[in-house]
Amino acid sequence: MSEPLLSQLRAQDAARRTLERALEKSRVHHAYLFAGPDGVGKELAAFGLAQALVCERRGVSEGGLFGDGAPPSFLACGACSACLRAVPREEEQRPVHPDVVVIERGLYAPQTIGRRTPETQDISIDQVRTLVLAHAAYAPHEGRAKVFIVRRVEEMSVPAANALLKTLEEPNARTHFILLTSQPDALLPTILSRTMRVRFAPLPEDVVASLLEAQGIEPVRAREVARLAGGSLETAARLADPDESDARDSFVTRALQAVDAPGLEPLLAVAEEAKKEKDLLRARLAALADALASKASEAARANNARAESFTLQGRIALRAMDHLDSNNAPQLVVEAMLSRMRAI
Ligand SMILES: [Zn+2]
Repeated sequence: MSEPLLSQLRAQDAARRTLERALEKSRVHHAYLFAGPDGVGKELAAFGLAQALVCERRGVSEGGLFGDGAPPSFLACGACSACLRAVPREEEQRPVHPDVVVIERGLYAPQTIGRRTPETQDISIDQVRTLVLAHAAYAPHEGRAKVFIVRRVEEMSVPAANALLKTLEEPNARTHFILLTSQPDALLPTILSRTMRVRFAPLPEDVVASLLEAQGIEPVRAREVARLAGGSLETAARLADPDESDARDSFVTRALQAVDAPGLEPLLAVAEEAKKEKDLLRARLAALADALASKASEAARANNARAESFTLQGRIALRAMDHLDSNNAPQLVVEAMLSRMRAI
């Protein structure tokens, strides 16, 4: 319970070192951009940094009367009231600490941020105005620091981003921004140039598997989904869901049937459906590649002439994952992939 959030960050040594060093030297930048895939620890690191900045005991010596106690820690204590309140609560997805403010599309009821309609398109200027501009100029409520954490900053509308930029240009002392994104290339150059980038890498498979096991998922299943999750704990957790596991099996079956079908209709149907499932599609393609690889080795063992075509089709599935990663439309990726597989 009292372990500081930053200490819970796994396998992001470079990012963690950067942040801990900044805390140790009291040189925490006023605007960070945490960039990396979703589900690898950006959030945990952001709230960890915020926790350290608002902690009531950090840097306070707990030394004895004659100064013979431990040196003051530059990390959050993890146990004081501020530390506890800096941790986001599950129901609201944000902390109750008044100086740790989360900005996210659709997080607040429209009336809270001075709107009539929900934010379906983007993070609106209304939210930035109400939650950032109205407060950033003032001292923190509780004295130590004020931290704004922006989830998926690439979803900011241009007016919202421009309003935020003004604040980033003239930072107040003890006010910090932590912008989170999995798509740094989609951000305005002005945002990129005014923030200090901290990179977060995909998590190693064994780390994802052990984190899943810690959540109570059985080891065999944890390892299986960790392999498909592309280094994201979030994706892995979704993949471990039994419904998603059925849907993935069904995708693989229907894709293989579409490759062998006489007409193009099944192919178009599989591709059409892929449109709705972008987030999970990558893992489904990986499962398809896996299925083709085992078909290939099965055929090879049986001296079946199809071994080579299965191998080639498996490579096409892997290439489709690359195409998806370079932001091609999911439907087109699946359509092109299945068409190529049929041509073999
Ligand atoms: Zn504390």
